[in-house]
Amino acid sequence: MAGSIFDKIIAREIPADIVHEDEDVLAFRDINPQAPVHVLFIPKRPIATLNDLRAGDEALVGRLVMAAAAWAKAQGFAENGYRLVMNCNRDGGQTVFHIHLHLLAGRAMHWPPG
Ligand code: C5P
Repeated sequence: MAGSIFDKIIAREIPADIVHEDEDVLAFRDINPQAPVHVLFIPKRPIATLNDLRAGDEALVGRLVMAAAAWAKAQGFAENGYRLVMNCNRDGGQTVFHIHLHLLAGRAMHWPPG
């Protein structure tokens, strides 16, 4: 499968405002923020959708969540709270086919999200 635009961000072929990087995870600010703070946490290994997760990927998905929670805490969002979202395929609203965890913070979120 052809790579997504996130592969180019990982490879530094296109710019992104990177806020966190470790061995497995990259995080950068969303170019079209839906909240005062909107960061995407992505695995460096390309996985197109949540449907493509396999046995053995548990730790990688856990690292995404842990990295997002640690970053939110470090930025001072732990107490007021924030939202983590992963969209899957058409009905989920997925537009980039490299799994990513949205972190939205800095305002009260609505529910249901729509
Ligand atoms: O969950 P979904 O696939 O819709 O989210 C993709 C997100 O990637 C969008 O919020 C979009 O603004 C963001 N994006 C980005 N930088 C790009 C391309 C897309 O932050 N170069």
